[in-house]
Amino acid sequence: MTSILFFVLYPFYGFLGLIVYLGGFFVDGDHVLTYMFENKDFRLRTMFSLKKIYRWCKEEDLTGKYVICIFHTAEFWILFIILVFFYPVLMPVLFGLILHMIMDIIYMFRHKSYSHRSYSIIYKYVINS
Ligand SMILES: [Zn+2]
Repeated sequence: MTSILFFVLYPFYGFLGLIVYLGGFFVDGDHVLTYMFENKDFRLRTMFSLKKIYRWCKEEDLTGKYVICIFHTAEFWILFIILVFFYPVLMPVLFGLILHMIMDIIYMFRHKSYSHRSYSIIYKYVINS
């Protein structure tokens, strides 16, 4: 979906469209981190087992287990927005993150899988512990 967005933005914004795309693309890198921490598997080759990680994420969706995807949490967003305040050059990346989250929310509502992911580290480890 992010790739389609890139092709739509590129003719109008050129290089900025690429940065928006990269921001939206790399935010899902946290699924790799979540997999590694949940399975205590920190081998380098695990990082590149994207098919295996994708399958695991789909299974996690079905279990309803509450997992943290760090780049999708409110705390990360607050820190990133503060960072953009000091480094406005990161604004296109923030735009890519926002578009990514909108698409994630639409996907979760369509597949009714919105309850398994924790959107706050504080909520998961302090309030809900
Ligand atoms: Zn996502």
